[in-house]
Amino acid sequence: MTIITILGTSSMVPTKERNVQAVLIERPGELLLVDCGEGTQRQMNIAGYSRAKIGKVLITHWHGDHVGGLIGLIQTIFNSEYTGTLHIYGPKGSKMRVEHLRKTVDFEDKISLEVHELSPGPGEPLRFFENDDYCLECTPMRHGTPTIAYAYVEKEKVRINMEYAHKEYGLKSGPLVGRLKRGTAVTFKGREIRPEDVCYRTASKRLVIIPDTTLNNSVPVIAESADLMICESTYGNEHEEKAQQYKHLTAAQAALLAQQAGVKKLILTHFSQRYKQVDALLEEARVHFPEAEAAYDFMKLEL
Ligand SMILES: [Zn+2]
Ligand SMILES: [Zn+2]
Repeated sequence: MTIITILGTSSMVPTKERNVQAVLIERPGELLLVDCGEGTQRQMNIAGYSRAKIGKVLITHWHGDHVGGLIGLIQTIFNSEYTGTLHIYGPKGSKMRVEHLRKTVDFEDKISLEVHELSPGPGEPLRFFENDDYCLECTPMRHGTPTIAYAYVEKEKVRINMEYAHKEYGLKSGPLVGRLKRGTAVTFKGREIRPEDVCYRTASKRLVIIPDTTLNNSVPVIAESADLMICESTYGNEHEEKAQQYKHLTAAQAALLAQQAGVKKLILTHFSQRYKQVDALLEEARVHFPEAEAAYDFMKLEL
């Protein structure tokens, strides 16, 4: 199971109640961090996560509220017993920016760090990482600086009902279980066991993170039928013009995009500091997407 913790929900500046942007994805054996606004390290501390377990950092764009905490995080990871390679993904220009960042503080370069620049085009999302368990995709947004939205896709899995397999066939975990999971029938204690007798499939799950953007057609494409969409919604309806001018979304626009994409769950985030309470934004969103919810710092979600 994948657990998502929203570490920051404010746009531009931290407020007393909300930190700036970061979303943590926790999967077995690995943490993925999407954006790293100032104060993200402390938010992780409070949420009880080890920063040295981060394997990948996905940067949506290089505005300060999304990357202001990156050099501090890199330094902490470099000073820890980190043994792997830290992979940072981001839009065009990320290599140069990380290089500059590393020069701003003195520390020993003990770990390996790889920066991957992503240049997705319009149309189908770009798949840039894949292993047996999950894959990562991205698509371009419209925000005045290179900006990308990310999808985290947990793959469909074949699992075995061990309790039943043991009770019915006396089967224990071992190579035969592996063969069954791969779709091959096996013989155990003189009985044939077919994969369909003991195996079942868990559905693929899709999480989409839509960062700062103005309305654009790529959102419903990457978010199509997503189980969970976390979407920026900086303004309310009264500032629709401002949203367009600064290339952001209103809560209602975020909800319309979620409705268009047919997502199952919508979480609004990246609120302008002018909103001490976001009830009005939520109400405006619920006109189009009744189950919309507003994020708060340390909100936890399951995928
Ligand atoms: Zn922002
Ligand atoms: Zn921005």
